Amino acid sequence: MSLRDIIGQGKAIEMLLGILKRQSVASSYLFCGESGVGKKAAAINFAKAMNCLKTVARHESRVGSENIVRNLELRTRNSEPVQIDACDECESCLKIEAGTHPDFLLVSPEDRQIRIEEIRAVDEALSFKPFEGRKKVVVVDDAEAMNISAANAFLKTLEEPPEDSVIILVSSKPDLLPATIRSRCSRINFVPLTTDSCMKVIGRTIEGQEALELVARLSMGRPGYALSADLSEERSWFLGLLKGMLGAEKDGWTSRDDMERWFDQGLIFFRDLAVLAITGDPARLINMDLKSYMAGFSKSLDIKGIIYIHQELSRLRRLLLFNLNKSITWNYTASLLRKELTG
Ligand SMILES: [Zn+2]
Repeated sequence: MSLRDIIGQGKAIEMLLGILKRQSVASSYLFCGESGVGKKAAAINFAKAMNCLKTVARHESRVGSENIVRNLELRTRNSEPVQIDACDECESCLKIEAGTHPDFLLVSPEDRQIRIEEIRAVDEALSFKPFEGRKKVVVVDDAEAMNISAANAFLKTLEEPPEDSVIILVSSKPDLLPATIRSRCSRINFVPLTTDSCMKVIGRTIEGQEALELVARLSMGRPGYALSADLSEERSWFLGLLKGMLGAEKDGWTSRDDMERWFDQGLIFFRDLAVLAITGDPARLINMDLKSYMAGFSKSLDIKGIIYIHQELSRLRRLLLFNLNKSITWNYTASLLRKELTG
């Protein structure tokens, strides 16, 4: 894979290629956007492009004489030719892809946290000059998972970035990062994909056009999410708990993760109910196969009630960041739904 192979992120990818072309790589970046839209893949391929071994010759043969001049201008001080996008074939590209390149480090949370030990490892990795590549690159995935001491240590690294190093923070919740960290990074925004782009990304993994379209829609523009979970199973799980909730059963979530997943599904479900109530057009539904179930459900709700529930669910979803009590949240949501449904 190379940067150009990343589907549905045209603007972000053009920005990154422009940075490479102008040789104006900053020392730190923040790749933001919802989870599962291609941020980490872009970071890894940006690292590959920065260190790719393929020479100017490749560009000459590919794009003709006009670009030779431009490519010559792009030579580095020691007159090494500059590669714009990763070739995905050379030793460097293959090593970064495999995570075995000595100048590339990928840090991810363990038990939802990035601890100070990991940031110290980053510092140590960055303290040497590049061994093989042109740039040392560190990618911190889910960067918002840094705890306070890790974030403080990391700020020092960002303030005095070692020469020839690039740090890329990847985050779906950048607001949780300290402002002092955010302000030191050049921000690149990633967007949810269109249903068509989603279908292109997950196409090979799902059989049948209808099933593919359903999963693409359920992923809400996050193909990475579609690939990491069985979304139709996820939806059955949500509907089962919804039924239990309406039937006044006890708290059916087992963890915070469960709560987040359930609210994510709930937002899609009530978004669909609103669309159905407003347009009456089942073709616009994300849960397009649940048309009649939805129609039955929406009979006991008016549009005001649907919108109110959606607002409340999205408020609670945001509050989940602050450790809401599980059974209180369950009971509150249940009484909210029951009141609107019967009221
Ligand atoms: Zn390469």
